[in-house]
Amino acid sequence: MAEVLVYVDHVDGAVRKPTLELLTLARRIGEPVAVALGSGAEATAATLAEHGAVKVLTADAPEFTDYLVVPKVDALQAAYDAVSPAAVLVPSSAEGKEIAARLAVRIESGIITDAIDLEAGDEGPVATQSVFAAAFTTKSRISKGTPVITVKPNSAPVEAAPAAGAVEALSVSFSAQATGTKVTARTPRESTGRPELTEAAIVVSGGRGVNGAENFAIIEALADSLGAAVGASRAAVDAGWYPHSNQVGQTGKSVSPQLYIASGISGAIQHRAGMQTSKTIVAINKDAEAPIFDLVDYGVVGDLFEVVPQLTDEVKSRKG
Ligand code: FAD
Repeated sequence: MAEVLVYVDHVDGAVRKPTLELLTLARRIGEPVAVALGSGAEATAATLAEHGAVKVLTADAPEFTDYLVVPKVDALQAAYDAVSPAAVLVPSSAEGKEIAARLAVRIESGIITDAIDLEAGDEGPVATQSVFAAAFTTKSRISKGTPVITVKPNSAPVEAAPAAGAVEALSVSFSAQATGTKVTARTPRESTGRPELTEAAIVVSGGRGVNGAENFAIIEALADSLGAAVGASRAAVDAGWYPHSNQVGQTGKSVSPQLYIASGISGAIQHRAGMQTSKTIVAINKDAEAPIFDLVDYGVVGDLFEVVPQLTDEVKSRKG
């Protein structure tokens, strides 16, 4: 069976959920071979094996921490040369997409970014993408070289599929380019204790209807009752009520959670572009004609200042 390289996103050995989702998709098209780099790379092996990795290629070097993405591209290319895979899968993070694009150029392959599903095809893997602000769903396949595909978080279930997960050291020689750009400082973001926006299973977003930075507390309270991440429309971000890192949409982040709750958001096409692939969409808006109601599964016509706190209380009371 053909091998499929899976680039591992991890923090000091703790594998992030989008990588486990990639393993589910990789098993549809071949045998997953994981590539884990940097501090804690070997510690990822047990988790990766539980989710189907037949092999885990690891490498650790100061270059992975001190420099930007090129050392990781060098390592992924070394893995590619060692394995000759049928496809290379990378999580669709900002870094993942840069790594994937650089690899595709080097190995002269086509690339598909932001896939939301993947299946085996007679002539290679077939990726599903949601395009033009989620107005269309396309299926495409790469016809040049080895397919390099990035996949959005929450696109596949995490499945237990025990495999050998044999750890092998990957030998990497870094290119001159690798040390061209150095990280000079890191500023850790203040932790809110909430899940990462693009990976969250539930997102609660607020828009202009929230009417002020201080009122986002009611959006946060609902999010916290559900264990959700907080999102915001551009109108709310431009007004300075919430950080740009939480903006959902064309010029913000793209999310695909199980549940997306939009409060005081009209549903402009640019906002839809970032959330329309959410599995279940709920909107709370006082205007029954708001375009957001065209795409919801459940809509509440009402004042968010009444509805959202009631919803929060209801969620809390059900949790006991
Ligand atoms: P509005 O459109 O003003 O809607 C506010 C809604 O709140 C209304 O429907 C109103 O009925 C409702 N409301 C008001 N008060 C209450 C209340 N008390 N209770 C319940 N409902 C209430 N937008 C994004 O979101 N993300 C992007 O990434 C993005 N990128 C863009 C890129 C470009 C190039 C351009 C041109 C625009 C972009 N926009 C983006 C902006 C987008 O076009 C809209 O302007 C924006 O999404 C509107 O935000 P909103 O829905 O919060 O505000």
